[in-house]
Amino acid sequence: MGIKVAKFGGSSVADALQIRKLKNIVDGDQDIKYVVVSAPGKRFKDDSKVTDLLYLCKTHIEHKIPYEQIFQVIFDRYTSMEADLGVDVGIAEELETIRAEIEKGASVDYIASRGEYLNAKLIAAVLGFAFIDAKNIVRFSDKGKFLDDVTNDSINRVLKDVDKAVIPGFYGEKLDGSIKTFSRGGSDITGAIIARAVGAEVYENWTDVSGFLMADPRIVDDPKPIESISYMELRELSYMGASVLHEDAIYPAKIADIPINIRNTNRPEDPGTMITAQPKVDPEQVISGIAGKKGFTVIGVYKSHLASEKGFIRKLAGIMEDNDITIEHLPTGIDTMSVVIDKKMLNGKLDEIVEQMQNQLKPDTLDVVEDMALIATVGAGMAARKGTSASLFTALADAGVNVRMIDQGSSEMNIIVGVEDKDFETAIKAIYEKMTK
Ligand code: ASP
Repeated sequence: MGIKVAKFGGSSVADALQIRKLKNIVDGDQDIKYVVVSAPGKRFKDDSKVTDLLYLCKTHIEHKIPYEQIFQVIFDRYTSMEADLGVDVGIAEELETIRAEIEKGASVDYIASRGEYLNAKLIAAVLGFAFIDAKNIVRFSDKGKFLDDVTNDSINRVLKDVDKAVIPGFYGEKLDGSIKTFSRGGSDITGAIIARAVGAEVYENWTDVSGFLMADPRIVDDPKPIESISYMELRELSYMGASVLHEDAIYPAKIADIPINIRNTNRPEDPGTMITAQPKVDPEQVISGIAGKKGFTVIGVYKSHLASEKGFIRKLAGIMEDNDITIEHLPTGIDTMSVVIDKKMLNGKLDEIVEQMQNQLKPDTLDVVEDMALIATVGAGMAARKGTSASLFTALADAGVNVRMIDQGSSEMNIIVGVEDKDFETAIKAIYEKMTK
């Protein structure tokens, strides 16, 4: 087997108990050479994530409110973890150094990054691995742009002689020497860029669910897990709201063709979901998953001979651009065109936009449907299979759901239907029942 890079998310490293589970996993697999860790996340529902507490310290300082109590919570959390784990990495001194830096006016990125830094120190000691600071390998420009080639080179240079290491996720260093973090959830990105640089055979992403499910378990009872899915299919599903992984983590793994395996730290026996470059088409299972979102507005334009009118789409897109609105979908017919917009983008501008459309597009009719939901049924196997859309629409008709809009991407990898918000759950259940048998 080749090298594995394993990233453990916040809930997988939230306390000593979870870190012991991590140790069992890593000790049990000699191929795991590099371990990337998040800051301690929630131990129970109403608990606080260390990263949130660190941001809170900074906000308090900015508002000139004492932050010491919050810092103490962080202090106690790490010192008791160190004691519980039976290691000595001088965590109290590390925390004092951080406190002193905060007093001196440390930047928000520095403060936020310390959650990962301290956790990686502890976990490296528990595993007996080297600690490699992310600031020595992950690079950003002075303006804060992630530098992938420079990072790739420095990872190779630094890790070349290190057999096994723990690396904190989420941050790196700017060329001027200051700390810079990725956006929230960014340890996923660190894991992916390390996996790419070392040419890992697989990037394991350990979290608290056994991968992706074929549908939202709050809507469908006990949905099946997705065993394997391609990056492209996943992108469609995450766009519609299914999320486990930071979006930017996909790119580095994808260009290096490294599969990402989502695993559950609390159920290591589960295989999880394998995300791969090429879809694996299962003849028994044409769809990979169903996801959707509520809260769309659809503006439908009807104009006779619309298809032969030059520049119509440009004018329509121009109106949206002028109003700072992104178009989610643009389903078209011979004489019709609908614009699907996320309602949140409209910000009370709907009447104004409709007026501009009336004036500039001169449609025969224009209608607005609010409170629409979009549901994407995704599956690379759909293109080759006859009758997929027939079963999908039969399922919806049988469930009494009125389909208001249909859009099928040119890849034929997904079928998107628009239904009224009130039919959202019924529609997802009906599609799931029919298409996963
Ligand atoms: N600790 C950071 C966050 O909470 C990064 C991460 O966990 O991936 O966003």
